[in-house]
Amino acid sequence: MQRLTNRSKVVSNKEMTLKERAYIPAIWTGMKITFGHFFKKPVTTAYPEQKRIFSPVYRGRHVLKRDDEGRERCTACGLCALACPAEAITMRAAEKKKGEENLYREEKYAEKYEINMLRCIFCGMCEDACPKEAIFLTDRLVLPEQLREEFVYGKDKLLETVENRIDVSQRQIKKYTIEK
Ligand code: SF4
Ligand code: SF4
Repeated sequence: MQRLTNRSKVVSNKEMTLKERAYIPAIWTGMKITFGHFFKKPVTTAYPEQKRIFSPVYRGRHVLKRDDEGRERCTACGLCALACPAEAITMRAAEKKKGEENLYREEKYAEKYEINMLRCIFCGMCEDACPKEAIFLTDRLVLPEQLREEFVYGKDKLLETVENRIDVSQRQIKKYTIEK
């Protein structure tokens, strides 16, 4: 039979030698590899006590931003959902009513806005597509959950609160620097 390389070995059911049956040389070879790793710098980190430093362009879980007056920026135009290659975003639009001027910036807003984090590939296309600077990816992690439906993040998880605004200015600066 023609072979591409000479690295293949013929497998046989021959009787094991005494040395092979003793397993000592094989165990010794394995232990040599184990001991060798004792003196190498570990490649793992003891999370959560130790935190890895992420790349400046790391893209983590999303945030829906508010404007300087605390109003929701998103106008439910659907461009982020259209740009999303994973079809992870769904939303339902509603019209702003009288008296809601301090809640929503535009005439329309997202009554429901959901991102399925199991589908999302954190590409950032939604952020790039948004004309209202309403959605950004942050350096925050998507936390582990027990149930699949818990990975569908609604506005309760995505929308920043008025008290705890998420600063994305650094991310915008970094993005600009990279694009240049
Ligand atoms: S980061 Fe990419 S995959 Fe995730 S929701 Fe945005 S566009 Fe879709
Ligand atoms: S996040 Fe931006 S692109 Fe997506 S629906 Fe809202 S305004 Fe439109």
